[in-house]
Amino acid sequence: MNAFSRRGACPALSAPMQTGDGLLVRLNPVAGGLSPKSLIGLGESALRHGNGIMEVTARGSLQIRGLTAESARLLAAEVDALGIAVRTGVPVETGPLAGIDPREIADPRPLADRIRAAIEEAGLTARLGPKVSVIVDGGGQLTMDAVTADVRLKAARAGAGVLWAVSVAGDDHSAKPLAMVEEDVSRDVAVAALRMVAEKGRQAHTRDLSARQLASLAGWHSVAPLSVLPDISPSRGEIGSVDAGSPFSTLQISETIGESVISPLEGEMSGRTEGGVQERQPTTSPIGLFDLSKHSALGIALPFGSMPAQNLIELAQKASNLGATEIRLAPSRALLFLGLSATTSLQATAATLGFVTDPTDPRTRIAACPGTPACASGRIATRAVAETIAKEGADLLDTSLTLHISGCAKGCAHPGVATLTLVGDENGAGLVVDGTAKALPAGYRPGYDAARGIAGILAAVRAQRHQGETAAACLARLGAAGIAELYRRNQ
Ligand code: SF4
Repeated sequence: MNAFSRRGACPALSAPMQTGDGLLVRLNPVAGGLSPKSLIGLGESALRHGNGIMEVTARGSLQIRGLTAESARLLAAEVDALGIAVRTGVPVETGPLAGIDPREIADPRPLADRIRAAIEEAGLTARLGPKVSVIVDGGGQLTMDAVTADVRLKAARAGAGVLWAVSVAGDDHSAKPLAMVEEDVSRDVAVAALRMVAEKGRQAHTRDLSARQLASLAGWHSVAPLSVLPDISPSRGEIGSVDAGSPFSTLQISETIGESVISPLEGEMSGRTEGGVQERQPTTSPIGLFDLSKHSALGIALPFGSMPAQNLIELAQKASNLGATEIRLAPSRALLFLGLSATTSLQATAATLGFVTDPTDPRTRIAACPGTPACASGRIATRAVAETIAKEGADLLDTSLTLHISGCAKGCAHPGVATLTLVGDENGAGLVVDGTAKALPAGYRPGYDAARGIAGILAAVRAQRHQGETAAACLARLGAAGIAELYRRNQ
């Protein structure tokens, strides 16, 4: 138990994480949204106690950075005073329009609540690692397809009813499908998968489960795949009818799920770090207008996921004046404003303040951490470099290419592999091709001049790209050595 554990009634604030620029607090409001007044209050607290920068992460969490042990305690007290209830325990996430999107297949919130309750009842929270998460996706205009999770439950229409597709270990594209089942069974399978992970230890994820364990989960009262169900009303009690699409259908299903009660470990799990986000472009960007029948939701993103708290305060004030009732956090570093009387007016204010209001904005194609001067560990001014590249390379930053600008080798903004990574270290700005910020750079430039190196690469792509070829394909053709040479050469 750490020094924060007994303080503040808001447990998510009780275990701030150490980062290169002091302590970091991550918040997820329980109800999914904040009132404009609450966001203004949080912004003022961030100005008072943090480094004045606020962030929304790729998973849609709010972060306040640059705290000390003492200021984190003061912040926790102020969040309590604002009446903001924050999520604790294993993240069981739903989409940002959950429950209000007329196009969603099912409201995922009741199932998410039941899974949270079952996780608590099973005593799993303290036994699971901090990056284990569950997604319950009801479908609709803004899916959670691009967000990775250990367990995914996705609504699918089945005749007049709804079934839940359960998969593990990945985003919607990469996760392993297990079963297509009714709601009750999907909850049971999800919790059973988490039990198996817990039994393997706090470092484990569903990707570590054996084929036999996955087969056991897949056979848990599965019904036949939707493609062969014209109009079904599946019932519980069907045993071992493994989804024909499952890679485990030939295995004998005999392994039972351990039913022994798992005692929670001492200590609380608040302040958990987020699961690794292998960020892909979402199926639908959260930026723009979303029809909610009687009203609409307006999505506005933070460039590179961060903004001065003062700018967020001003945006929330304007939203409040325009009648906003709720501001929801959304994946891909965005905020969704609900209840507005005039959306274009807020968009104009947001653009003036530097927010991203257009889904094609090239800044959405670049991941950049705070870097210098915001982060003490930073060696390069990441945001300035990213802004320059976004302006000069807008025509080439297509969805095929991932560009990551990292202040140091920690790689906070994008833990995964990127097509091109600029990373600051004692030698300046290193370039990594098809690797992470931790990899050995293939070439260097002075940090202040890094954007010009990337400009040299992009100019070569512009000149040498074949018709119809993506930027990433062209870079692959140029090869890592050729790209590194272009980066170094453009003096
Ligand atoms: S990657 Fe960026 S934010 Fe993370 S510690 Fe390094 S400089 Fe700071």
